[in-house]
Amino acid sequence: MAPLANDHRPRRIVVVGGGAAGLELATRLGDSLGRRGLADVALVERSRTHLWKPLLHSVAAGSMDPSEHQLNYLAQAHWHHFRYHFGEMIGLDRTAKMVKLGATHDVEGREIAAPRAIPYDTLVIAVGSVTNDFGTPGAAEFAVPLETAEQAVRFHHRLVNAGLRAQAQGAPIRAGQLHVAIIGAGATGAELAAELHQSLREMVAYGLDQVDPDRDIRIILIEGASRILPALPERISTATFKILTRMGVEVRTNARVAEVRADGIALAGGEFIPAELAVWAAGVKGPDALAHLDGLEVNRVGQLVTDATLKTTRDEAIFAIGDCAAVPRAGSEAPVPPRAQAAHQEASHLARQVKRLLQGLPLEPFVYRDFGSLVSFGRMGAVGNLMNLAVGGNVFIEGVLARWAYRSLYKMHERALHGVTKTALDTVARGLSRRAEPRVKLH
Ligand SMILES: Cc1cc2nc3c(=O)[nH]c(=O)nc-3n(C[C@H](O)[C@H](O)[C@H](O)COP(=O)(O)OP(=O)(O)OC[C@H]3O[C@@H](n4cnc5c(N)ncnc54)[C@H](O)[C@@H]3O)c2cc1C
Repeated sequence: MAPLANDHRPRRIVVVGGGAAGLELATRLGDSLGRRGLADVALVERSRTHLWKPLLHSVAAGSMDPSEHQLNYLAQAHWHHFRYHFGEMIGLDRTAKMVKLGATHDVEGREIAAPRAIPYDTLVIAVGSVTNDFGTPGAAEFAVPLETAEQAVRFHHRLVNAGLRAQAQGAPIRAGQLHVAIIGAGATGAELAAELHQSLREMVAYGLDQVDPDRDIRIILIEGASRILPALPERISTATFKILTRMGVEVRTNARVAEVRADGIALAGGEFIPAELAVWAAGVKGPDALAHLDGLEVNRVGQLVTDATLKTTRDEAIFAIGDCAAVPRAGSEAPVPPRAQAAHQEASHLARQVKRLLQGLPLEPFVYRDFGSLVSFGRMGAVGNLMNLAVGGNVFIEGVLARWAYRSLYKMHERALHGVTKTALDTVARGLSRRAEPRVKLH
């Protein structure tokens, strides 16, 4: 493929979805190709700001202020030489090579932009995944998923309001009133349970003297499999179970949720767990829009199927990366897992491949390298395993080393977006401002 399109204009590369994968890719391509006018790079994103998704459980628990970590797409696009289109992809015309965007509106319902279409020569779809509640009755109504910053903030508001209500009501606190049920004990659920345990106690310490944390607050982690963190090695699962139960988190395994109600969770066996606050953190699937993209192939869980070069199976001009892509993994039946490190590696790989594409060179296959899995418990530390180290194999780590390794994944994302200097300055600035503020967000 030549650097210029047939009409001698720079090739139009459109990335849809500015998350862990898409924003890193658009930034890299903008810095390398957009800056020199070698390509016209554009990002289509339905939000105005970006927050790295693995931070959402800390936002939900109130242990992190999202505004300290949010990035503005318009500014990022300006600084890194790509164009930002605010809008949601609702369809695709593969023959005309157009991405269809829906209308955008402000909070008062006034239209910001009418429905429109963006032309592309090369399209990269990176729209992430959504929580899969498997159609469980009441889940959509009463349990908050953690897919977006808005949802994490909404849950945090529910939490603070529950505390304020309990303080003001005069009557004794009901069973379940300050109980939080977390459905799904993957890394997100386990990390949220640990952070909530701490932040709720800290919130109460700021003068909610009608609440007795040991009597009134309960965190229940509900998992359908026989152990928590079923996708991670058993040693991490066992260590996490010990830490959570030592904290006082109630862990329920082999527990299938039949219904979520306003006042609690009904299990398939008939048991009812009182809990007026619920988070759905189980299962991921591709967003529904992917099934209607002009015939692109999707798998059983709605992800776009790609070949080893990250190209979708039915269109030479369309790639998919991140959680929305089912990328084949050598030696495994299952595709590359939906994780931040996979999104980062795929974005880096595709940035190199797009340049090869423009030079007319053949595409190289993507090889996923699993560097291990880490689970953080906020200030209570972290556990995990690191793989592919020089010593070979798989090393179990915990404490300070695990916490440092956990943080380094986010630093890698920040470096890809801002470079080394700004990342270092931001880290220092956040460290200083945190010393002057409550450790838990109280509003
Ligand atoms: C609470 C939580 C904790 C996690 N913790 C970890 C962890 O510790 N380690 C780890 O490896 N992984 C973790 N993950 C998984 C990790 O966040 C994802 O694998 C990663 O964010 C995937 O990147 P992505 O770019 O594919 O999707 P995302 O980061 O979700 O980005 C998708 C982007 O696309 C946009 N978008 C969606 N649909 C459209 C549309 N139709 N049109 C335009 N824009 C659209 C969205 O607004 C979003 O900005 C966690 C996930 C969650 C939810």
